[in-house]
Amino acid sequence: MYQALLIRYGEISLKGKNRSFFVHKLIENIKNALKETGPFRIEQSYGRIYLYIEGRPDQYIEKLKLIPGIVSVSPVAITEVNLEKIKDLALGLFNYSVKTYPTSFKVETSRPNKDFPLKSPEISREVGAHLLKNINENYNDKLRVDVHNPEHFLNLEIRKDKALVYTESIPGVGGLPVGSSGKGLLLLSGGIDSPVAGWLALKRGMTLDAIYFHSYPYTSDRAKEKVLDLAKSLSSYGGKINLFINHFTDIQMEIRKKCPPKYTITIMRRMMYRIATELARKNKNLVLVTGESIGQVASQTLESINVINEVTNLPVLRPLISMDKNEIIQIARMIGTYETSILPYEDCCTIFVPKHPVTRPNLRDTLEAEKDLEIEKLIAESMEKSETVVIE
Ligand code: ATP
Ligand code: MG
Repeated sequence: MYQALLIRYGEISLKGKNRSFFVHKLIENIKNALKETGPFRIEQSYGRIYLYIEGRPDQYIEKLKLIPGIVSVSPVAITEVNLEKIKDLALGLFNYSVKTYPTSFKVETSRPNKDFPLKSPEISREVGAHLLKNINENYNDKLRVDVHNPEHFLNLEIRKDKALVYTESIPGVGGLPVGSSGKGLLLLSGGIDSPVAGWLALKRGMTLDAIYFHSYPYTSDRAKEKVLDLAKSLSSYGGKINLFINHFTDIQMEIRKKCPPKYTITIMRRMMYRIATELARKNKNLVLVTGESIGQVASQTLESINVINEVTNLPVLRPLISMDKNEIIQIARMIGTYETSILPYEDCCTIFVPKHPVTRPNLRDTLEAEKDLEIEKLIAESMEKSETVVIE
């Protein structure tokens, strides 16, 4: 029944002369996200993208719904710009799209093609009458037109080269196409939060690289696999991610040996931020992105965030900062990272967690607590032992 998907993009059309760049990015991302879904062909025309498909639209829509920059998607049936053909197609689609007949409907027409002899309301009336006549023959005259509160909609669009008929618009996530804003570095753990933070950054058009602090053998290779899987999920929304796997074990051992237990978490986080900052500078990432949310754990009080943030002068984006866990989980499920995140492999922080971590650290005490660490040396050594995996 459906030959194509009509893809609408909103915000990007506001961006003036950058527009073609944005649309180009969006098309690239669509191609990348659908590469394993099935055959398709893309056409770009008058502020719209048409995706010609084979087979059922559902599997394509599932992917498109989550691609940043897409506002909505409609499966459309297409015919020639000819009223009789439009009427027949409308009737066919109406029958196809309803499981049980509604009692009321409305036809809505838009007519960007001003050469078409009838005006929009006239087209709606003609097509509506055709549906009433044909359906009511077998439906005891139970179907009627209701322009205010119809049970079912039928939309027509009369364009220069084709006429479209469709019945639904499935909302997309909106936002901006990945690759249309700058590049950030995501601190990606195997938990629930950081992949969601990464996705929200992608949603605003950012490109991401990621860093994972791995504490082998205290965290197993399976924990690392989990992070690779999460990065793979994120890359499906917008292409390549360079994932840096930092060898963090020696730093954690040093912290445990030389710092008071109460402060180990705060100091460990400061080390993560320092390494991420150095990597970001090398790699031209403009910002760091983390999955922190106020008050979620001891290291995420405002006092902790303050002391941890002190080691970097890059902006740190925290897209989850005011979200509750259940809101975060909802997004994690939607983007398909939740099931991976809850796999039980240990996280570097849970292994080194002290019994009573300080929840309201201050900078003076933290500096005192970390004074015996050879910070520069530890960072340089751990950077040397890091590996990079390109995820796409
Ligand atoms: P998540 O669910 O993302 O692991 P969390 O609730 O466990 O977060 P924390 O352990 O306090 O919270 O971590 C806060 C943030 O620090 C994480 O969201 C992530 O951005 C970063 N982070 C923590 N551990 C690591 C790690 N091993 N590698 C990379 N980043 C990490
Ligand atoms: Mg975690």
